[in-house]
Amino acid sequence: MYKTNEAKFCIMCGHKEKEGIMIHKGFICDECANEIVHTEVEDEKYSFFIQRMKELWVKNA
Ligand SMILES: [Zn+2]
Repeated sequence: MYKTNEAKFCIMCGHKEKEGIMIHKGFICDECANEIVHTEVEDEKYSFFIQRMKELWVKNA
């Protein structure tokens, strides 16, 4: 993971954001990254995030 200054499309919300992190080849904006951090494992959203990240991993493997 690293910080980027380039505006990219967030893989989670689809918004074009400048602030965020790169995970593998996917970009996640700060807002979504914070949401992941604060999402409980039992939360339905959490599985959604994990699913999106898994898809990304497989796609770029
Ligand atoms: Zn986002």
